[in-house]
Amino acid sequence: MGKRIIIRRTPGGRISMLIKKAKGNPPKCAVCKKPLRGVVRDHPRKLRKYNKTQKRVSRIFGGYLCHSCLEKLLKETIRKEILKTFSSTT
Ligand SMILES: [Zn+2]
Repeated sequence: MGKRIIIRRTPGGRISMLIKKAKGNPPKCAVCKKPLRGVVRDHPRKLRKYNKTQKRVSRIFGGYLCHSCLEKLLKETIRKEILKTFSSTT
């Protein structure tokens, strides 16, 4: 994991440099690989200090799939179910 350099102006007018550990990559959607929203991004070791609710979204597959991919998936599965029931009755 690399470094992250923060440049700051102190109250005295001096410019100082802070070297910190870089944050990890943001969690991504398993289907479209877009970064997930509403999820904290930090160093993997520091993720421990966050609450469960800060690391996922309160939705099924929250923190794993993005909202648009989940919508598509649910629609597909429901359509398949409907087709199945119709084909079995007739
Ligand atoms: Zn997605």
